[in-house]
Amino acid sequence: MKILVINSGSSSIKFQLIDMTDESVLAAGLVERIGDKDGFIQCTLRPETTEKEIVVLRENIADHQSGMRMVVDILIDSDTGIIPDREAIRGIGHRVVHGGEVFYEPTLITDDVLEVIEKNIPLAPLHNPPNLDGIRVAMELFPVAEQVAVFDTAFHQSIPPYAYHYALPYKFYEEQRIRRYGFHGTSHKYVAAECARLMDRPLAELNLITIHLGNGCSMTAIKNGRSVDTTLGLTPLEGLVMGTRSGDVDPAVHAFLARNCDMDIEEIDTMLNRDSGLKGLCGMNDMRDIHAAIAQGSERARLALDVQTYRNRKYIGAYMAVLGRVDAIVFTAGIGENDAVVRARTVDGLEPFGILLDAAANDHRVREPSLLSRVDSRVQIWCIPTNEELAIARDVKSVLG
Ligand code: AMP
Repeated sequence: MKILVINSGSSSIKFQLIDMTDESVLAAGLVERIGDKDGFIQCTLRPETTEKEIVVLRENIADHQSGMRMVVDILIDSDTGIIPDREAIRGIGHRVVHGGEVFYEPTLITDDVLEVIEKNIPLAPLHNPPNLDGIRVAMELFPVAEQVAVFDTAFHQSIPPYAYHYALPYKFYEEQRIRRYGFHGTSHKYVAAECARLMDRPLAELNLITIHLGNGCSMTAIKNGRSVDTTLGLTPLEGLVMGTRSGDVDPAVHAFLARNCDMDIEEIDTMLNRDSGLKGLCGMNDMRDIHAAIAQGSERARLALDVQTYRNRKYIGAYMAVLGRVDAIVFTAGIGENDAVVRARTVDGLEPFGILLDAAANDHRVREPSLLSRVDSRVQIWCIPTNEELAIARDVKSVLG
């Protein structure tokens, strides 16, 4: 069974074609700068084999449909031989950012489902519209394939009301559905399942703290295999310090800036999402640049690292209190998988709680899942590469039976 996974953004589409008979990747790539005259497509064919081949196109990509059409042409080109025709693709998995309170599992897309995703646009105004564009284009280009939506919020629908409610007047929940939803659910769910497999224990018996540290960052408390709390909230802005997003701030910051700095709500929102986080503190949002700047003596870069890792540590403490017993802490995503310094500083000082990092294992860079804790650590520490595309493809397969 061949499954195409699509992550459609406002001016880009990420895609992966996976053969589910052995979960091998047949093609993976990116369409960028949709709507620009210098559009760009990169598609890597058979990326996991010695016959790996990279196809690059630079041309005007008018809209999502033209972009997807070009990708399909690459895939069914007889020279590349990836698939004979469009009908070879049995299912298409769409990453959809916000499923609101309705969707708690991967869902076969029908007209009703499209309507509900559309209704959730106010909850994710930047993300759900391009996700919908991707779905509509795929429905047109692949009329025979089943389309499945996999929601970033779905894994967190098990969070109990006392953890998802904000202490605001209740009518805002009733009328506007303002509450914590949480995001990165596909990633947290995937690494939790991988962790259970690696520990050779049933996920339903495990309490985990999963830490997704990429450009976006979030931490999830998982009790008996289910999400019971997570740091991202109504939107992907709350919680940990991210590349350009602030994470937690005093909500009174908005009023303060409006009164004292003559900023309107759109400017404040943009500042918190695009100009804050690591970038706000030191001007850089890539952790590799921050380390290089620290090596050059930059105090601000050091501050940014300190603020991020302190916040990580603080939330680990909170989630230990939420869970009572923690079996493992799992690091994942760009920073979590690659940055030994961030991992070490995140768990630094947690030794009295039975969290003992093995410094040598942590420093050793591997692309495979690896155990980073000492044998006498009560809580295991793992680094597990996330694979959201594979997780989505598995979800599609399970929906299609
Ligand atoms: P992601 O959103 O998961 O793709 O992660 C992207 C972020 O991961 C980048 O902005 C970097 O901050 C970070 N990153 C990627 N590679 C490395 C690396 N080798 N060392 C440290 N940080 C990295």
